[in-house]
Amino acid sequence: MKISFLDLKAGYLELQPEIDAAIKRVLDSGWYILGEEVDAFEQEYANYCEAKQCVGVANGLDALHLALLALGVGAGDEVIVPSNTYIATWLAVSQCGATPIPVEPDARTYNIDPARIEEAITSRTKVILPVHLYGQPADMDPILLIARKYGLKVLEDGAQSHGARYKGRRIGAHGDVVAWSFYPGKNLGAYGDGGAITTDDAEIAERIRVLRNYGSRVKYVNDVRGYNSRLDPIQAAALRVKLKVLDTWNARRAEIASRYQTGLANVGLTLPFVPEWAEPAWHLYVVQHPQRDALQKKLGEAGVGTLIHYPIPPHLQQAYAAAGFIQGHYPIAEQIANQCLSLPIGPHVQAEAVRVVISKLQQFV
Ligand SMILES: *Cc1c(COP(=O)(O)O)cnc(C)c1O
Repeated sequence: MKISFLDLKAGYLELQPEIDAAIKRVLDSGWYILGEEVDAFEQEYANYCEAKQCVGVANGLDALHLALLALGVGAGDEVIVPSNTYIATWLAVSQCGATPIPVEPDARTYNIDPARIEEAITSRTKVILPVHLYGQPADMDPILLIARKYGLKVLEDGAQSHGARYKGRRIGAHGDVVAWSFYPGKNLGAYGDGGAITTDDAEIAERIRVLRNYGSRVKYVNDVRGYNSRLDPIQAAALRVKLKVLDTWNARRAEIASRYQTGLANVGLTLPFVPEWAEPAWHLYVVQHPQRDALQKKLGEAGVGTLIHYPIPPHLQQAYAAAGFIQGHYPIAEQIANQCLSLPIGPHVQAEAVRVVISKLQQFV
């Protein structure tokens, strides 16, 4: 039995008639930039996220970048980011001419540790940027308290957390703004690139609407130096179909996670920890093991596909060499990078496959 880490095509096949019809509707409409389909998706996604506003953009990195610009981040500013995240979180800060200031995660939740944020704040700090990593909500209440105390804004990176809840409320508007990615492999994934921001703040939403469209409110009148970063209507139409099944598909992920939690409880792996206030979206199911590379190799030989999220933390990437970070600077992020392993999870991973993964792990660990 060959178990792939992710089967995107199975997701398309399940919804094929609806997806094909949605895409054809856009083709037939003769309207191919922004317009009704994007407006409708924005409305539906805002409602889903329990947020007042949604603005569709071209991808998740742009969502983060435009959100930071809308919050007034620019050259010389500092933004607090997790040391353990996908590099996009940092790159968005750098794209503004600002400096990402890493803060270590809580070793159990993998998310930014609120207890370490205050020591990273300086007079240049503008924004705290937590990531709801692996689909687990970050601990927002203490983060929001710190932000209020120091007059900072909060941008959430929601790229892995579509549908997750923090203390009963969906991720979508706990902080000032949330950036979303609809990269195909995300819980809500398009058939190409896509992204969005959600917020309760109409002014922030309006700024991003202008920034995504050449800095223009009225065609050929340019108020600011904007960008071309619009959500494609074909992707919006497909996302409207997929939004309808997001809760069902997330429930399948949660079922797999629960099987792993039980089946792997005494195997000797570090399993995900879920605080009582968290309802994760289970974008990834990440375990840790000291001999991760050997374990991954054995699983691969047994036909079980796994991935590493992520093998090199941002501070040790060549891209950030100029910042002068060294090995050992962020030991928790480094340990996670060295020991983490993502097991197959997704709406199209079958129960039998989960049983096989569990039994192989019982055998190999
Ligand atoms: C996927 C991802 C992004 C970037 O999204 P793109 O749509 O690929 O630009 C940003 N942050 C995190 C945490 C991600 O997982």
